[in-house]
Amino acid sequence: MAGGAQSAALQFLHEAAHAAGDDCDHKAFDKRVHTPNDAYTNLEEKRVIEGPEAAAARTLGEAVRTEHKDLMQWPVGSPTELPQGYTP
Ligand SMILES: [Zn+2]
Repeated sequence: MAGGAQSAALQFLHEAAHAAGDDCDHKAFDKRVHTPNDAYTNLEEKRVIEGPEAAAARTLGEAVRTEHKDLMQWPVGSPTELPQGYTP
């Protein structure tokens, strides 16, 4: 995602996807959380980033992450706003 941006709303979707994954099957969620992954920290982050987060990012014209830690934060005026000067 180098140079890309995601809205706070998309990051909320990311966290909600974790909650849904835990609620749907806690045992499988726990196993994914405790299975390390180099690019995504663990398999739960990989599932969310490559799954619901990437699908929503493509739909919204926001950046698609290729690793878990590839994220910086900027102040914005609303949850759906991207940083000033960012053009997808
Ligand atoms: Zn996460």
